[in-house]
Amino acid sequence: MDTILVVNAGSSSLKFEVFSVAGSLARQIKGKMEGIGTAPHLTIKSAGGDRLADEDYPHEAVPDLPAAMRVVGQWLRERHQGRLIAVGHRVVHGGPDHMRPARIDEKLLRELERYTPLAPLHQPNNLAPIRVLLEHQPQLVQVACFDTAFHRGHDPMADHYAIPAHYFDEGVRRYGFHGLSYEYVAGKLAEIAPDIGGGRVIVAHLGSGASMCALHQGKSVESTLGFTALDGLPMGTRCGQIDPGVLLYLLQQHGMSAQELQDLLYKESGLKGLSGVSNDVRDLLASEEPGAALALDHFVHRIGLNAGTLAAALGGLDAFVFTAGVGENSPVMRERISRTLEWLGVRLDSRRNAAGELLISSDDSRVAVYAVPTDEELMIARHTYALIAA
Ligand code: ADP
Repeated sequence: MDTILVVNAGSSSLKFEVFSVAGSLARQIKGKMEGIGTAPHLTIKSAGGDRLADEDYPHEAVPDLPAAMRVVGQWLRERHQGRLIAVGHRVVHGGPDHMRPARIDEKLLRELERYTPLAPLHQPNNLAPIRVLLEHQPQLVQVACFDTAFHRGHDPMADHYAIPAHYFDEGVRRYGFHGLSYEYVAGKLAEIAPDIGGGRVIVAHLGSGASMCALHQGKSVESTLGFTALDGLPMGTRCGQIDPGVLLYLLQQHGMSAQELQDLLYKESGLKGLSGVSNDVRDLLASEEPGAALALDHFVHRIGLNAGTLAAALGGLDAFVFTAGVGENSPVMRERISRTLEWLGVRLDSRRNAAGELLISSDDSRVAVYAVPTDEELMIARHTYALIAA
């Protein structure tokens, strides 16, 4: 059985999935090494949900991502039958030129390393397992699937910041992220509702990272995320859109260093900073603290405002789609957000919403509303397969 390994490496976890490629792609296993460097724990499940591994490791055995990759590789070689034909990686930043996934070699890897300052929390982690595999198994096909690629078809006018134009050429431009998720959702919508999928759609990817994307005929035309993954909506711990004057104030009046500012904006802000309670929407919904209510109200408010902006970019709206952790799992949040969209023609069907159906708007809603589970890993597997098949 030929297989494709999909790798999604984060700051303290390594998620991976194995797909068999007999004719079509079929998910075989799903695994996660968590607590890398602190309390490493490996869980692996079969596609049917059976537990295949549930193991603790001493922290010195898995101090970093390369070590986690080696442990996972060894487990797969010893315990999983299958002939690995390629590895597909999630890579958050593909820079201005990569419009589609690309086969990895030393030259590409060095280019992608140059984008680390643009995604300091994600890019180095995404690239670490690639480096390990390139050194130890140089003949293995590796494919980079970029979160930015789906947005590369934007009108360049939309991707400019109003600062002197030479900065754009240097790479200071709006990129947009969560592209693998949007691409998957656009494909799903084209399957389940081709008429609507061919129209004007806003997709809200609401997880710990959160953004929204305007799709016209299945293609991204605008996104709330820009130069880095800090822009747009407030997120679990990231600030979202902020007046750059605030940053100048913090630099000048609080004497903050660049590193302190980075930590504040990426790790201490968003729902966590605003609520003083948690970065997790579930905790905030359960909390009695006034900060929790403020953070959720602000989150919903900003989603509503950004929906207005994206609807303007599309010149109207045919459908609104919820996806990712909050969007897929929280009828309460979907209901609250939908209320801010009523002026656009959104009417939710509370029964369909509570039941978690795919179509959750009422029959008389002018704008169709969907809750679509995203599948970034399947998207990566598809891209990887397509690239080796070509
Ligand atoms: P990531 O960006 O880490 O992939 P996810 O898409 O898994 O994130 O989303 C994680 C977030 O989803 C959690 O922080 C939590 O706030 C939210 N979430 C998950 N399930 C629910 C739920 N049932 N109700 C509300 N929020 C939820």
